[in-house]
Amino acid sequence: MITRSVASVDSLTWQEQLAGSIRDPKELLHLLELDSFKAGTFESGALLKESLLDQALAANQDFPLRVPMAYLQRIKKGDINDPLLLQILPLKEELSGAPGYTADPLSEQTANPIPGLIHKYHGRVLLIVSPNCAINCRYCFRRHFPYQDNKPGRNEWLQALDYIAGDDSITEVIYSGGDPLAASDKQLLWLTEEIVQIKHVKRLRVHTRLPIVIPDRITDHCLHWLTSTDLLTSLVIHSNHPNELDSHVGSALKKLANAGVTLLNQTVLLSGINDSVETLQALSEKLFQMGVLPYYIHQLDKVKGAAHFEVTDQRAKQLITKLTAQLPGYLVPKLVREMPDHPNKVPLL
Ligand code: SF4
Repeated sequence: MITRSVASVDSLTWQEQLAGSIRDPKELLHLLELDSFKAGTFESGALLKESLLDQALAANQDFPLRVPMAYLQRIKKGDINDPLLLQILPLKEELSGAPGYTADPLSEQTANPIPGLIHKYHGRVLLIVSPNCAINCRYCFRRHFPYQDNKPGRNEWLQALDYIAGDDSITEVIYSGGDPLAASDKQLLWLTEEIVQIKHVKRLRVHTRLPIVIPDRITDHCLHWLTSTDLLTSLVIHSNHPNELDSHVGSALKKLANAGVTLLNQTVLLSGINDSVETLQALSEKLFQMGVLPYYIHQLDKVKGAAHFEVTDQRAKQLITKLTAQLPGYLVPKLVREMPDHPNKVPLL
């Protein structure tokens, strides 16, 4: 039953916003006034044959819809091409196979020595701190990740801490997920305090999309565990489009910057969403206004169900070459591809 409206979320805690995310495709289309897009009414390629709702219900079976109201508020009603909508709307293209697109495009499951820990690169390990996300991005390279075998908890974390303590080449721990900020601040404080005890670990990096999708996640408690540590902390937000960066996000990022957290951004280059010089330029400029340096722009990881987001390498290189001519170097993210079994991300330019 549809009972909500796209109303203010100001009075809700981040946990309430997380719990209240939209998960029903019918409700999503209703709230965005897209329920009139029936079969045959949309004049753009594949969408002609089936209604948006039929497509969303079918693709939802493979990877469920999840989007919080705070993000939904930034999507333009009635606009099927809204770049934020296209990141979260299940579409039937996800169900067609494409050559080279697999469930585990980065072979992470071969670099998963113990549950909840991925050790791919020299000197760094990644912890799956939370299996949950606030939003399900349709292009996510972990959309088929076996989170059921990597459920974090005290026991798994203790094993992971032993692993890190036993390898003094590890100087950086990366909180990942899911989204690590979906875990509670109490859990994150405990984990961070344990990591500080391991003397060879110098840096903590947090990869999260939560400050973008639910900016209220940046609470005083969150700032406390991030900054009351001897570890050098950086936080990598994952923003793909300037429309994601509204004033609420700006306030959350300002709190982090003022607390001394280094802020970086990673973008995924996505067809129909951000594959234009104007969009990428606006994204870099807005990020910098909010205290964030653009860091990487990733070619899409070839995960099953995401082939329709692919931008060719040739076009990606053209875009970044043109962007380089428009912006100072520090605002141009490095174009890279992550490759399975490769010791680092591979620069494409
Ligand atoms: S892990 Fe990141 S990209 Fe994947 S669904 Fe979660 S927030 Fe989106």
